[in-house]
Amino acid sequence: MDLGIRGKRALVCASSKGLGRGCAGALAAAGVDLVLNARGAGTLEATAEMLRETHGVRVTGIAADITTEAGRTEVLDAAGPVDILVTNAGGPPPGLWSDWDREDFIRALDANMLTPIALMTALLPGMTGRGWGRVVNITSQSVKAPIAQLGLSNAARTGLTGYVAGTARQVAPLGVTINNLLPGIHATDRADALDGGVAQAQGITLEAAHAARAATIPARRYGTAEEFGAMCAFLCSQHSGFIVGQNILLDGGAINATF
Ligand code: NAP
Repeated sequence: MDLGIRGKRALVCASSKGLGRGCAGALAAAGVDLVLNARGAGTLEATAEMLRETHGVRVTGIAADITTEAGRTEVLDAAGPVDILVTNAGGPPPGLWSDWDREDFIRALDANMLTPIALMTALLPGMTGRGWGRVVNITSQSVKAPIAQLGLSNAARTGLTGYVAGTARQVAPLGVTINNLLPGIHATDRADALDGGVAQAQGITLEAAHAARAATIPARRYGTAEEFGAMCAFLCSQHSGFIVGQNILLDGGAINATF
């Protein structure tokens, strides 16, 4: 399927690895020029070079912490006017409800709620002014079904989801869609880190922790960044203009719910 977005320009945050890289790869395959971002310059440049070579699109990498105001300013200055925004950042650390104080919540809200909101605030006026735009926020399955050890994520991402529900309906008349993608477990460094914590707590190997978790998923495996990226690219395509303010779960059936 031709996604109809060849020549458009996208900012994909936190995209040197994992789900962000999956999204960047699928957009590049659709002919979209990219601004990528991550904190570490080495992996970022390697990803940028791989996408340039594979897809022949223009790719700029900006090494900066997207959760800080200075980092966002640097990224937004380099990006200029973009047609597509994919927001993403690292997830908050796991723990127990009794572990976290106000500062922990402020950090989580900054990273996983206020950063995507700041990026939308900066870029939506250009999109609505030009009459076309696509925003995809990478959130989490924790929005639909809380994950006990990820209380910081449950809280921050649900706040973002409420903001998107209201804002998406205000920019849709101007040709801009905003939707959220909710990853269940995908095979990335983040999943390895979470499995590593389980392995340590239970005195089992990383492989055993991975296998035990995969067995709880009806698809009996973890998702891939490529599958995730394909859905993101569709949401950024010309075909998705009637999909507004939705929360799309990619979890292999892990959440046992009718809707
Ligand atoms: P990942 O494999 O660890 O990749 C994270 C990417 O984001 C890397 O490129 C990293 O590069 C970059 N990054 C992290 N913090 C950043 C920051 N402050 N500023 C700029 N770039 C940053 O993680 P992932 O699995 O793709 O997860 C992406 C998001 O989805 C996370 O919020 C995660 O919590 C959420 N999620 C993931 C899963 C899953 O199963 N994988 C499930 C549910 C939700 P640098 O380290 O160099 O900055």
